[in-house]
Amino acid sequence: MKEKIILFDGTDLSAFTTRSGAPAAWSVEDGIMTVTHEDIVSKYTYGDAHIHVEFRTPYMPEQRGQDRGNSGVYIQGCYELQVLDSYEENSLKDNICGAIYSIAAPLQNASLAPLEWQTYDIILRAAVCGEDGSVCTPASVTVLQNGKVVQNNLTLLSNTPGGVFDHVVEEGPLLLQDHGNPVSFRNIWIQPLD
Ligand code: MG
Repeated sequence: MKEKIILFDGTDLSAFTTRSGAPAAWSVEDGIMTVTHEDIVSKYTYGDAHIHVEFRTPYMPEQRGQDRGNSGVYIQGCYELQVLDSYEENSLKDNICGAIYSIAAPLQNASLAPLEWQTYDIILRAAVCGEDGSVCTPASVTVLQNGKVVQNNLTLLSNTPGGVFDHVVEEGPLLLQDHGNPVSFRNIWIQPLD
């Protein structure tokens, strides 16, 4: 097994930059990072991997839908695993927490209440591309939210909007989305898989 890469252990954002390569500037306090402005992108890129992210949505009772606790974890900078306050959301849509945004709704609503820490464990099998960049084997992903399966070996035939790339890649970074809401993150690591 390859070495596990710690992207955020509560200390600083040195493993991330802005999209344009400037130092990441989200707030870091008490071991937690919180969205302030601009998406942040990991310097580290990966193919097959187990990605672990912990997140906490804010309490925004005056907001609804996509305006309540919105952020996102872009797998390889290509596929947005939605972060949203979807606590007690009854309809499983492809834009709620646990969804691959616009592609696949979660299999169940595993969301906890706002202000509670939640976990994503993402098992990615990266795409395999030909020398001309065409996709030979698409990526697939399994996602557990708080230990519950929300995506099961989902084939990813296209990228979701707003990522780093508009094409499929074999290796890519982790992007965390600024959607204007103060979502917090902690304990982010990637275990590359053979
Ligand atoms: Mg989002």
